[in-house]
Amino acid sequence: MSKTTKKKDSQKKNREKKDTRPSWDEYFIEIAKVVAQRATCDRGRSGCVIVRDNQILVTGYVGSPKGLPHCDEVGHQLKTVTHEDGSQSQHCMRTTHAEQNAIVQAAKLGITINGATLYCKMTPCSTCAKMIINAGIKRVVCEKKYHQGKETEELFKQAKISLEYFDQSVEKYPHQ
Ligand SMILES: [Zn+2]
Ligand SMILES: [Zn+2]
Repeated sequence: MSKTTKKKDSQKKNREKKDTRPSWDEYFIEIAKVVAQRATCDRGRSGCVIVRDNQILVTGYVGSPKGLPHCDEVGHQLKTVTHEDGSQSQHCMRTTHAEQNAIVQAAKLGITINGATLYCKMTPCSTCAKMIINAGIKRVVCEKKYHQGKETEELFKQAKISLEYFDQSVEKYPHQ
């Protein structure tokens, strides 16, 4: 292969790369990642985008309620939860979750999210899952799995909410 052909090939490759548009799901998951950069609790640093007809309605990220100190400033407020099978897990109670903040933003601004799709970092916790069900959201797309996502998977199944994962791996953070 001559040098010129090689150059042409790489130019063609670059052009192909540039022309590859992300799918709608990829696009909104990427936006959720940008939203997550504003998160103030490093146990997850999650972001959320609620969408209908491929248009963003509201966004949210994990953090303390407005005006209250953040985990990044004063540390986490950890609670240990003992489950039915005797196993224990730790949860930070200082924050409002990304999904909750997005739903609350919709309430504050008077935007209906009935029938919408929610994009987030990992399987929502069971509290967020119940709020998602009652908000009328019909589809949830997560970037990854939450290590304790089983309860939510069961809730969504019962409520007939479609739950999809971009990546089957489990999100990791300290003191799970
Ligand atoms: Zn925290
Ligand atoms: Zn949650």
